[in-house]
Amino acid sequence: MQNAGIAALRLNWRYLAFDVHPDHLRAAINGAKAMKFIGLNLTVPHKLLALRMVDELDPSAKTWGAVNTIRFEAPDPQGRWQPLVEFADEVPDEMRAVGFNTDADAVARALREDLGTELRNASVLLLGAGGAGRVAALKLASEAVGRLFLVNRTMKKAEQIADAIRQRFPRQEVAVGYPQTQVDLVINATSLGLKPEDALPVDEKHFSLRRARAVYDLIYRPAETSLMKAAKAAGCRTANGVGMLLHQGAKALEIWSGKSPPIEVMRGALEEAINDSMTSDPVPTRYD
Ligand code: NAP
Repeated sequence: MQNAGIAALRLNWRYLAFDVHPDHLRAAINGAKAMKFIGLNLTVPHKLLALRMVDELDPSAKTWGAVNTIRFEAPDPQGRWQPLVEFADEVPDEMRAVGFNTDADAVARALREDLGTELRNASVLLLGAGGAGRVAALKLASEAVGRLFLVNRTMKKAEQIADAIRQRFPRQEVAVGYPQTQVDLVINATSLGLKPEDALPVDEKHFSLRRARAVYDLIYRPAETSLMKAAKAAGCRTANGVGMLLHQGAKALEIWSGKSPPIEVMRGALEEAINDSMTSDPVPTRYD
């Protein structure tokens, strides 16, 4: 996705994946800075750790409490910090790392685009309280959804997110547990569904999918999860997490390049890569 976007913008860059143990994250960020990388993306479990490892936090990273994108910057002749794309020739040795978050806006945009869901006043059941669940919950609260129900295997983590929402968005109605009524939207932010043998992330003894209008699964591989199949059978609109992945990546490319990202080129490359990886890719390394 990123290399297709980079090529379409005619940038002489390459996007590469590096497998970094969390104990070495600080060294990896400082190494990339010393080597004058344009920027970085970070994924689980680095997004929270990186908050303490960058020189500056963009308001997006402060607001959502996680860093998934870093931009390296250097001072121009007037001493103003500029992204490296602004330097045609020599980049000064003095550099800084600025942390951004592009996940939160991406999930809201994907829900609107892929399900046509109007978030304001919508009632939402959110399954999962890991990194992605937390960002999604806070973003939904910032969009003033009507009622927000949080469910997680480890309920304490859902309680902590509910407390954070009550502090930051005191007017938001938020409850931990399944709703008794219909909801406009169910979001799966658990990792249940990545493997074919996984149980459904929703406990049908407590909540029937017939009570939901739409279901968004953050998982994009497989393209149709068991939850999405069950939701379709129950008459719901469904979408997978490709849109969120696309928009967080496209925004990162915009942050690094200062240019409008070629969304459709990136979407095509992403879908192709996901289809290819369904047949060949091993399970990615995870340290959590
Ligand atoms: P994470 O921080 O590791 O959180 C994992 C979540 O799944 C937690 O809520 C965890 O519950 C739950 N879970 C794991 N195994 C479970 C099981 N056997 N039974 C019930 N619940 C279980 O991961 P994350 O970063 O939030 O990612 C969550 C999912 O979202 C993943 O599938 C990931 O691929 C996807 N994701 C997609 C995008 C995108 O762009 N589309 C972006 C980020 C993440 P506990 O708290 O009880 O452990």
